[in-house]
Amino acid sequence: MHYQPQRDLLQNRIILVTGASDGIGREAALTYARYGASVILVGRNEDKLRAVAQQIQQEGGLASQWFILDLLTCTPEACQQLAQKISIHYPRLDGVLHNAGLLGDVVPMDQQKIDVWQDVMQVNVNGTFMLTQALLPLLLKSDSGSLVFTSSSVGQQGRAHWGAYAVSKFATEGMMQVLAEEYQGQLRVNCINPGGTRTGMRANAFPTEDPQKLKTPADIMPLYLWLMGDDSRRKTGTTFDAQPGRKPGISQ
Ligand code: NDP
Repeated sequence: MHYQPQRDLLQNRIILVTGASDGIGREAALTYARYGASVILVGRNEDKLRAVAQQIQQEGGLASQWFILDLLTCTPEACQQLAQKISIHYPRLDGVLHNAGLLGDVVPMDQQKIDVWQDVMQVNVNGTFMLTQALLPLLLKSDSGSLVFTSSSVGQQGRAHWGAYAVSKFATEGMMQVLAEEYQGQLRVNCINPGGTRTGMRANAFPTEDPQKLKTPADIMPLYLWLMGDDSRRKTGTTFDAQPGRKPGISQ
């Protein structure tokens, strides 16, 4: 995507990122801070989140706070408590990037282990839904809120062996579409499909692939910025590809 955002694109915006400790989420958190946002980091690993907050500060960004939430074990009550804690420090949320995700096993359907299947659904769908429910009141306080989910190519077209992960991403697309209709005119809701990107998850999914052939998280940030800022103000109910035209599957 060719997009040259204004340096102050996200000034006065408060943006929460899940899975902010690593990979694409870490890069998104750093990038949002560079464009002026006050960033709230959510994840399950305190040391990694603290390191991201420190980097934001070292780069001259606004001080960011981090909060621990393990999507694998979270309950609706834990999500409500998190929203409550956030509301003590912040008046509203202008953006939420649901980025945290779990891959599970890349094996045929008849070999998908039910406990791994349930973990993938819990992190990618159920936990993400519970957190969304808890954060909606804060998002609705913004006059230009943007709620962004993270999908995948296998969330739009099923592919052999992608099992629970693919099914969870179809569910993510559905959740986005339902919410986009329900909050039409109040909150925009979209998905990003990052496309193959050089992260730990990608290396686990394609261990034989040469990572150098992949875009880095930094390369795909233009779309992440565009969807959080006012340049995409009227867009809702859509899945956007961060790498349009890229053929899904292993990079040759
Ligand atoms: P990584 O594995 O590099 O990072 C995943 C992030 O999610 C980490 O911050 C991780 O935390 C966090 N996370 C995982 N499980 C939990 C949990 N139970 N509770 C809270 N946080 C959790 O993945 P990517 O950066 O590659 O992926 C980011 C998103 O993009 C995912 O939704 C993925 O499905 C999607 N995606 C990625 C593609 C790619 O090629 N990379 C392609 C298509 C979609 P921790 O640091 O503690 O492990």
